[in-house]
Amino acid sequence: MPDPSQALPDTPLAPAFQDLTPFNTLGLAARAAAFVSLRAPSELDALSTLAGRYPGLLVLGGGSNLVLPPQVDNLVAHVALAGVRLLEARPDAWIIEAGAGENWHGFVSACVASGWDGLENLALIPGTVGAAPVQNIGAYGVELADRFLGLTAWNVAQRRLVDMDAAACRYAYRDSVFKHEAPGTWIIVSVRFALPRPWRAVLDYPDLQRQAGLAGGTPTARAIFDAVCDIRRAKLPDPAVIGNAGSFFKNPLVDAATRDALAARYPGLVSYPQPDGRYKLAAGWLIDQCGWKGRHLGPAGVHDRQALVLVNRGGATGADILALAAAIQRDVADRYQVKLEPEPVVWRDAPPRG
Ligand code: FAD
Ligand code: NAP
Repeated sequence: MPDPSQALPDTPLAPAFQDLTPFNTLGLAARAAAFVSLRAPSELDALSTLAGRYPGLLVLGGGSNLVLPPQVDNLVAHVALAGVRLLEARPDAWIIEAGAGENWHGFVSACVASGWDGLENLALIPGTVGAAPVQNIGAYGVELADRFLGLTAWNVAQRRLVDMDAAACRYAYRDSVFKHEAPGTWIIVSVRFALPRPWRAVLDYPDLQRQAGLAGGTPTARAIFDAVCDIRRAKLPDPAVIGNAGSFFKNPLVDAATRDALAARYPGLVSYPQPDGRYKLAAGWLIDQCGWKGRHLGPAGVHDRQALVLVNRGGATGADILALAAAIQRDVADRYQVKLEPEPVVWRDAPPRG
């Protein structure tokens, strides 16, 4: 293992010990042996040099979709690449580019303030612009892929910048190519968005339809942005108050026969048809029906208003959160024969090179 306190003369990036507790929204106590902040694309080549000295590389954004172990000995690269600009005002779309380190909500807020509408349903999602393509973030009927034009990513081993379009990113429900490659293969540097003109409101979700001022009228993007913020503040635990990583499980996708058999047996089953003929089951409903809402296993708990959200009740480790997740998965599988898949990325250090 390299000694991070030793000078690394051939790179401007100086790795240092870092407490990662404020860098993950679950609030798990964690420490990095070697942490650097990436502030400019000109540092990417040096980062590749540095990464070559460690067995693994953890690319870190806002830490809002991560379960960390108490000690990370691999290199941690915190992406802090800034900048938002209008690339083109096309008649059919606003083309916007944002640096990967930009705060996602700040970016959405700036777009709405500039009249570049189309991202308002994705307001108040924590994290960075660069992590948004990783799980194709989505909320209230809009996902990143719907507003995506392309991205530029650094291939760490090959030391080159690569432009990727939507096909190359292989977007699917809360999924992309980046979740399937070895961790540390890519650093997303910037993301380009195409926000369609004329703008059209997306108001399919019942919570949005119920929100005063939206139903029946012709709401503005600003009104939807404000409504989404209000609903989320009322419904979701604030990570600054109680540690969490948002939804801990993806909504499972099942074939129509499985869904029909479950619906016959459990008439309250909540499910939504998908364009490919499958059905999306509401994982929160399955967990709630198994009696987990508001319960806990030691310091790891299930939020009392939203059964999909696991919380750190104080002093939980990643292992505590994963033990609770496993117990929930077992109960849901026993009762419904449905496999729940965790949504956050669970970090496990690559072992030291032997
Ligand atoms: P991190 O947690 O830092 O990283 C997540 C993954 O992305 C890791 O594998 C990391 O290595 C990788 N990564 C990060 N940055 C880069 C980069 N620049 N290049 C390459 N890889 C990178 N998600 C939704 O989809 N919809 C929601 O509505 C939603 N609501 C949430 C609400 C709360 C309260 C919380 C806590 C989370 C919520 N999430 C939601 C999950 C989370 O906010 C998103 O997944 C977000 O995109 C993660 O961003 P991050 O910067 O924190 O990523
Ligand atoms: P909700 O609106 O109460 O809906 C419950 C579930 O039903 C959601 O999972 C949602 O699927 C699905 N759903 C509701 N209406 C739908 C429709 N018209 N068409 C298709 N699916 C529908 O959910 P919530 O918990 O309050 O969250 C609101 C939104 O924010 C959701 O989109 C959710 O994904 C998102 N969110 C995500 C996270 C995260 O960490 N990933 C955390 C908080 C909120 P979808 O989840 O597929 O949208």
